[in-house]
Amino acid sequence: MSGASSGPRRGGAVAETVENLRSTGTDVVRVVYPDLIGVDRGRDVLVGHLPEACAHGLSFCRAVYHTTPRGGVVPVAGGLDAGLPDICVQPDLDTLKPLPWEPGVAWCLGDSVDPLTGEPAPESPRALLRRVIDRAGAYTDDALSAVVGPELEYFLCDAAPGTPSGWIPYGRATGNVYSAGRRGDPDGHLLRTLRQLDRLGIGVIAGNHEFDGGQFEINLGHSGALDAADRAFLFKAAVKETARHEGRLATFMAKPFNGLGGSGFHVHLSLVDAAGRNVFDDPDGTGGLSGTARHAIGGVLRHAPALAALLNPTVNSYKRFGPDTLAPWLIDWGLDNRSAMVRVPPERGPGTRLELRLGDASANPYLLIAGTLAAVLLGLRDRPEPPDPLAGYGYDEAVAPRLPGTLPEALDALAADEALTGLLGAEFVRAFLTYKRDEIDRYQHAVTDWEFGEYAFLI
Ligand code: GLU
Ligand code: MG
Repeated sequence: MSGASSGPRRGGAVAETVENLRSTGTDVVRVVYPDLIGVDRGRDVLVGHLPEACAHGLSFCRAVYHTTPRGGVVPVAGGLDAGLPDICVQPDLDTLKPLPWEPGVAWCLGDSVDPLTGEPAPESPRALLRRVIDRAGAYTDDALSAVVGPELEYFLCDAAPGTPSGWIPYGRATGNVYSAGRRGDPDGHLLRTLRQLDRLGIGVIAGNHEFDGGQFEINLGHSGALDAADRAFLFKAAVKETARHEGRLATFMAKPFNGLGGSGFHVHLSLVDAAGRNVFDDPDGTGGLSGTARHAIGGVLRHAPALAALLNPTVNSYKRFGPDTLAPWLIDWGLDNRSAMVRVPPERGPGTRLELRLGDASANPYLLIAGTLAAVLLGLRDRPEPPDPLAGYGYDEAVAPRLPGTLPEALDALAADEALTGLLGAEFVRAFLTYKRDEIDRYQHAVTDWEFGEYAFLI
């Protein structure tokens, strides 16, 4: 597997890029990179200063990785305790794309490194995914590559001053699942967004209204693991940013509203050999699946409690799970069965793949794909046989074990899963656990609307 980076460019190549940008009227390059929770951080660089930015990188405080969504800094080792040192972000000019909604601005991804050693910053999610891809050879006999297709759901919200959160789902018409057009999308949000994303060139294929009012799903085409993560990361940033241009909120929160469904981040994954042949496909195997596919499924099931920490990374994530939600509840798998955590879609041959339905939309795409791939690789190495596939409608706790019910349970499972932690890297996992345990602590000390409604009046 290859996670090759373009590395710093030679001066001549950068000068040529600057010329090309200027000739198309681009005067700013927005260099973005994912933080620990997958939020885009970055800087707008005037094109004339791009050569300097490429030669020396852009300096940011390493504690960007330790910053909470509300702006607090969590004391993760290497940040506050080390005197808030720098990371250096190196623009990857191979990823340059003009921003359709911001004329004159181009986007490019950056890779963050420790300025002293030149090594990837320990918390860099992009570096983590590269590491998992690069270590794959140690877990498989053949040179296998992952093919990954992300599928994301989100709610679009309108401002509603005076309501508890200040936002309500856009449109709010019910019964529009799998529909397109104005019925559930009164001012054409989806078409507008699809066209913007198409011009951005991140491999978006199609979209439709999801189950609940104001909820949409957009599918991205499949590609290699790193490219798929890059595209899913830019996708989330783009949808949030274009909604802001319209005075709206697009949220990838797992379960933003009581009484409505959650938003999933399903990921389709297969493995191909050096000749490009899908190694999950076996017409003679049970269900048309190879032993490799079965072991991959076995690996995902075995490591699911720990994976939940990465794929369901917020306190809110665990409110999406449940019986009858189309989100999972149990650690199970099935052949074309949407009530299972791992669904094997009906296509065989080159389209043979797993659809892992565990992740929710709040997951950092790099961690979601790295964690899933790591569990698959461990499955290939350790060869666990999955149980019989789920028959019929799922959610029966007598049949399969339950997923972690809370974020603390999932973090404990990640901390205890030495095989997965070993593959992801102990330093990264330590930083992630410290950051997330701080979130739990803050949540446990926060008084919520629910508590006031439950206790304030009668007691
Ligand atoms: N919204 C569901 C989830 O949270 C998935 C619905 C679907 O099958 O697309 O995973
Ligand atoms: Mg969906």
